[in-house]
Amino acid sequence: KANERESLYLVSEFANSYFQKILHKTDQGKAIGLSYFKERGFTPETIKTFDLGYSPNEWQAFTDEALKQGYNIDFLEKTGLTIVKDDKRFDRFKGRVMFPIKSMSGRVLGFGGRILVNDKKAAKYLNSPESDIYHKSKVLYGIYHAKQTIAKEDNCYLVEGYTDVIQFHQTGIKNVVSSSGTALTSEQIRLINRLTKNITVLFDGDAAGMRASLRGIDLILEQGMNVKVCTFPEGEDPDSFAKQNTFDELALYLNENAKDFIQFKASVLFEESKNDPIKKADTVRDIITSISKIPDTIKREIYIRECSNIMDISEQVLFSTLAQMNKKDI
Ligand code: ATP
Ligand code: MN
Ligand code: MN
Ligand code: MN
Repeated sequence: KANERESLYLVSEFANSYFQKILHKTDQGKAIGLSYFKERGFTPETIKTFDLGYSPNEWQAFTDEALKQGYNIDFLEKTGLTIVKDDKRFDRFKGRVMFPIKSMSGRVLGFGGRILVNDKKAAKYLNSPESDIYHKSKVLYGIYHAKQTIAKEDNCYLVEGYTDVIQFHQTGIKNVVSSSGTALTSEQIRLINRLTKNITVLFDGDAAGMRASLRGIDLILEQGMNVKVCTFPEGEDPDSFAKQNTFDELALYLNENAKDFIQFKASVLFEESKNDPIKKADTVRDIITSISKIPDTIKREIYIRECSNIMDISEQVLFSTLAQMNKKDI
């Protein structure tokens, strides 16, 4: 089994160098892939750092080359790089810019591939399927490039997408990782927890994304970590914002706009529900649920005091709601 996993790594690492070769050395790669990255503002150095690539717009160019180089069809299929249907073989990724997803130690686990023009028919991003080496709930995009800086800065920025990680890195903020579109999991948080106790979650500037993410953040509190959140102006995401700003401007924006998660959640939800008593009651319970996840009793008490002020509910009521919740947990 360990042997088979090693074979899957080798196939993935071959694919990684193949997609880079196509990007840098072929007319198609240069005309389409490299110009795309250039348009997004990625420098040649950044493209190299993140091993970005391009998958040719053909049915089986990659698979043919891999077989020619002696890679086994079983392993190509198990990584999902080749799709086998009856006696036909197809490349999974075709005509996409490629983002290899690496482990903490830098091994290639899988890929994300982006179409070049947004059209509503095709999924914007296509990812490798789950395999013996790629478990999407256990990886964070960018962790290999971020780990040293996360430890040094004692903070980790958590963003939504591949390009957010890359653009932040290029702008000079390197302690950044992404869950790449999947809901945040405890295993992903544990990867960060080994390096720092502080996470700053950066939301795309669209309300839908933010509300969906709020729940996942309770998982960070459960691990006893400190969480801040930061939003971007409407229509911007960390990538587009970083692209328009210098390192100093970006760092200043983050420092001025990162807010404590509990305070943020209490004020956002309170603002939305203050004129509706029933909604307000739900909001209060929602906030207390988040607070109940914090292992440290002293911190819980401090947050109850603050939320009592923000939401204008007595501390006593909040403490007794918290006590009831803890009882139910046990
Ligand atoms: P871009 O700037 O290239 O348009 P993005 O990272 O801003 O991409 P979002 O729409 O904000 O894209 O989505 C965040 C992340 O969610 C993406 O980076 C990707 O990992 C994942 N994602 C988005 N759309 C899809 C999809 N159709 N299928 C699978 N994953 C997706
Ligand atoms: Mn988004
Ligand atoms: Mn985005
Ligand atoms: Mn984007």
